[in-house]
Amino acid sequence: MNVLLIGSGGREHAIANALTKSPRLSQLFIAPGNPGMAAVGSTVELDATDHRAVASFCRQKDIGLVVVGPEQPLIGGLVDHLEGEGIAAFGPNKAAAQLEGSKGFTKDLCRAHNIPTAAYGRFDSEEDALDYVRAHRLPVVVKADGLAAGKGVVIAETTAEAERAVKSMFAGAFGKSNAEVVIEEFLAGEEASYFVLCDGERALAFSSAQDHKRVGDGDTGANTGGMGAYSPASILSPEIEARVMREIVEPTLRAMRDLGAPYKGVLYAGLILTKDGPKLIEYNNRFGDPEAQVILPRLEDDLLELMIAAARGRLPQRALRFSKRSALTVVLAAKNYPGTPLTGSEIKHLERAAALPNVTITHAGTRLEGGRLLAAGGRVLNVTALANSITEAQRLAYAAIDQIDWPGGFCRRDIGWREAARESA
Ligand code: AMP
Repeated sequence: MNVLLIGSGGREHAIANALTKSPRLSQLFIAPGNPGMAAVGSTVELDATDHRAVASFCRQKDIGLVVVGPEQPLIGGLVDHLEGEGIAAFGPNKAAAQLEGSKGFTKDLCRAHNIPTAAYGRFDSEEDALDYVRAHRLPVVVKADGLAAGKGVVIAETTAEAERAVKSMFAGAFGKSNAEVVIEEFLAGEEASYFVLCDGERALAFSSAQDHKRVGDGDTGANTGGMGAYSPASILSPEIEARVMREIVEPTLRAMRDLGAPYKGVLYAGLILTKDGPKLIEYNNRFGDPEAQVILPRLEDDLLELMIAAARGRLPQRALRFSKRSALTVVLAAKNYPGTPLTGSEIKHLERAAALPNVTITHAGTRLEGGRLLAAGGRVLNVTALANSITEAQRLAYAAIDQIDWPGGFCRRDIGWREAARESA
């Protein structure tokens, strides 16, 4: 089968690596891809917002499945258009993608179906939002509705800070996301990410991960798209996992089906493990980046088979197989990320890092110029290691990073610290 993969980040590079293991794959096309992905498939210039152009490419190349990596094309209705043209696609349609696209939609669904989440209010008026923050306990969490690339959330420790956040969101600080603001109770506890593969009716566990959103060591500094991750997250014990399935995932799938928007694709639940049990902070409608880089190398089943089955509404009647080994990935970012990254610097000796056994390098914001590899974005590379423990994977990933010569980049030096501490306890 010929496959078209949409996306250009480290997540899509990890998806491409997993797809190429499938004996069912004939040709893999990636739009637009990046220089790293050019080694595993044919990269093509295609605008994912131009649904007709994507469909016409699919007909031309006899594409049997389109795999959509990032959230924007899903929320933009690419899957609806392709399915309307009789082209199979992996990922939710526009109605189902609201689980990520609208925080308000998801909060209302949780309330209606008793799904554990933070108490909240939704506001389209600045004045009402200000009244609410003044009347509630601190800290309070202020969120712009809609997509804001992980940057539309402010955890306010003081009323003045909460007021500032509300005002800046209504003033349009997060672009189109400003039409509505969600204000939530602050949940205390460790965060974990839980993944399931869905076929509209059922969900199969797709392992867990923990990511590191802050830019600095010790989880300090600004929020980013993610600076590293590891999998599995042992804090999500089998008991907690069963609760997440029963109390959060399954009621969500039933609710979506009953709304006439059955959910197909990867559903990623961002959780906080509170003293009262797991609570949902948010859903994402696709693999996480960088979580895909640590989950997919552990998958022992055929990813392409599973994606085809999910798209057809026929996932297997058995649990999926994952390696017991641990994976850890470190994001290398261009200096000044998550502010405006300083791009254009040269990266050398990647091949030395990639030559280490059980190390995989995936590309995100890179470009090739005259044979030189240059930084072309905020998050630039991911170095992933697979080992028998997180402690060992951490050691291996940093040993690989130390082979790379890139003065224009930086990374956190403590990815996996919570799990490494648990392992040494
Ligand atoms: P979100 O975009 O909703 O995933 O939020 C981004 C980050 O903000 C999360 O990963 C959490 O670290 C934090 N966060 C969001 N909502 C809450 C909450 N209700 N309580 C505590 N932390 C939160």
